[in-house]
Amino acid sequence: MEIEEQQQPWKTNFYTELPKVELHAHLNGSISSNTMRKLIAKKPNLKIHDHMTMIDKGKKRTLEECFKMFQIIHQLTTSPEDILMVTKDVIKEFADDGVKYLELRSTPRRENDTGMTKKTYVESILEGIKQSKQENLDIDVRYLMAIDRRGGPSVAKETVKLAEEFFLSTEDTVLGLDLSGDPTIGQAKDFLEPLLEAKKAGLKLALHLSEIPNQNKETQMLLDLLPDRIGHGTFLNSSEEGSLNLVDFVRQHQIPLELCLTSNIKSQTVPSYDQHHFGFWYSIAHPSVICTDDKGVFATYLSQEYQLAAETFNLTKSQVWDLSYESISYIFASDSTRSELRKKWKNLKPKVLHF
Ligand SMILES: [Zn+2]
Repeated sequence: MEIEEQQQPWKTNFYTELPKVELHAHLNGSISSNTMRKLIAKKPNLKIHDHMTMIDKGKKRTLEECFKMFQIIHQLTTSPEDILMVTKDVIKEFADDGVKYLELRSTPRRENDTGMTKKTYVESILEGIKQSKQENLDIDVRYLMAIDRRGGPSVAKETVKLAEEFFLSTEDTVLGLDLSGDPTIGQAKDFLEPLLEAKKAGLKLALHLSEIPNQNKETQMLLDLLPDRIGHGTFLNSSEEGSLNLVDFVRQHQIPLELCLTSNIKSQTVPSYDQHHFGFWYSIAHPSVICTDDKGVFATYLSQEYQLAAETFNLTKSQVWDLSYESISYIFASDSTRSELRKKWKNLKPKVLHF
């Protein structure tokens, strides 16, 4: 009954029915074309078009071009009202796609034109999460505060302070920090101190690392912080010198990886689906979680990412199920949330595997 009532823009299948956990989703990159249209209509003078904010099927951009797209999107999300709408829409879309637990990440942003402060930015996201909960959507949503490398160490320190404040006041909604942004900008060593401070305060760390080649020294520096999860880690297992040590380190410490297939293909850090590093990590049974990164920009859904992984690497339905079930272990929320999710998965299993 419940499924039929949901209005999904696509046909339901095993992958949409599969209960899923999304752990790597940037809020501004996750804006769908539907929501984007609403935002564009509010600011017609900017003359922004769909193709400037989304990479269609079969198309590719460089990583640099992708970061430029985010700057365009940021011009469309400048007020607390924009952020609230975007948050609610993104949550609803993930819920419609069968995501039961979502960790959204976003960099607090100040906008002088609208008077939005970093604090009201964060509050708008938290309000969106709260309103979605009141609407009884079947999805549990948390927030990771993001540090954009472009801001450098002083902004990073500010963000950690803000995260600590909200960590204490939000009852388990703000769970940790993300380090992201253009990997060619700034140096890891600039962020070690604030990240370590965050860790000491009890915040979890999800760090983008090894997204581009020849960064072994910086990667090891970030790994030495013992992050709770790794974003992408695209070149950890490359053949360059020293990368064997990185793989050993990540394996020894069992640090889970957040892997985003379409994102890496469309931003051209991975040449093709079959060469995606998911294959390597999956073959050695290392904790890996399939994620979308930016479902809006890369025009994808989490169910589609599962399907792509399954079809590319010949996974059976039962292996796909296990992949999704095991990702519950790597969420940043508490053990009680973990056991609730496991219960939900077990209840759904007979119905979903029947598909
Ligand atoms: Zn990312």
